[in-house]
Amino acid sequence: KSVVHRICAGQVILDLSSAVKELVENSLDAGATSIEIALKEYGLESFQVIDNGSGISPQNFKVLALKHHTSKLLDFPDLQSLTTFGFRGEALSSLCALGDLTVETRTVNEVVATHLTYDRTGLLTAERKTARQVGTTVTVKKLFSNLPVRSKEFHRNIRKEYGKLISLLNAYALIAKGVRLVCTNTSGKNVRSVVLKTQGSGSLKENIVTVFGTSTFSCLEPISLSTSDGSVVEGFVSKSGNGSGRNIGDRQFFFVNGRPVDMPKVGKLVNELYRGANSKQYPIAILNFIVPTRAYDVNVTPDKRKIFFSDESSVFQSLREALGTIYSSNQA
Ligand code: ADP
Ligand code: MG
Repeated sequence: KSVVHRICAGQVILDLSSAVKELVENSLDAGATSIEIALKEYGLESFQVIDNGSGISPQNFKVLALKHHTSKLLDFPDLQSLTTFGFRGEALSSLCALGDLTVETRTVNEVVATHLTYDRTGLLTAERKTARQVGTTVTVKKLFSNLPVRSKEFHRNIRKEYGKLISLLNAYALIAKGVRLVCTNTSGKNVRSVVLKTQGSGSLKENIVTVFGTSTFSCLEPISLSTSDGSVVEGFVSKSGNGSGRNIGDRQFFFVNGRPVDMPKVGKLVNELYRGANSKQYPIAILNFIVPTRAYDVNVTPDKRKIFFSDESSVFQSLREALGTIYSSNQA
């Protein structure tokens, strides 16, 4: 049973960034306005997500890390109208199968917090009182330590994994409104450095300035369009001739209803239209697709990063037209 559990868990939690992503999304789902991600040795030793959200009530302590335990889906009539990030109750159960999971949490109804320890199968093995503000801290130590091959790969690829994580956190820093995000890493002789820090401003524009700076922002052009099926695309792209991404996807962030997603086709389209006259550079693109929840499906891959639009062609056509206007001078 535990082998099967580990295999399934490895499909939800593919790497460091998908692990942290699940925890950050849980914090957002819990209404947090402040989220701190604290890494030790770039996540190899441990990672911790500390929030000021709703906290977890004591009746959920025992079942929290069991497979398919979720407090979320019941609030919604069906999967189609889902608005929270989580819904399958797989993140915590997967994480405890792949590393050492502890949770510290307190709701407004408690005067003290509780520190909870789970074993690899998701059973609660220890519980003690501790001091904490309202909110939740989830700590995972030694991710993948029980999967020798994955663990070796994790160590070998840590620079890449870390880079991917920072890029993902940038995506949340860009899209989350009114949420303060901090990421720190402690390495070597206990030197703690701040890797990312945002104040949680109220708009995409202000977030871009915080993450990339004023001079980068001044090279961007706003984009806003709506499609025949009721979708809206909002964001910013490099002005013609102002691309600064050195690599494909370097500074390209795509969201569907505020959810960071991989959209290789959209990236390709933006690059093609932009590069009509700019062969050596890639455009910055930060695009949020606001679509009726019925028009897309996130339930496609376990890590929920792939999206299917039910009417992809109309979204693409509108995007092509809008970008065509911005980059028309690029086309010969
Ligand atoms: P899901 O997010 O799909 O519901 P998870 O395994 O990610 O499943 O989390 C299980 C449950 O634990 C959630 O439904 C929620 O009730 C609770 N939970 C997890 N993290 C937090 C958090 N940071 N704040 C409040 N509740 C949390
Ligand atoms: Mg979740």
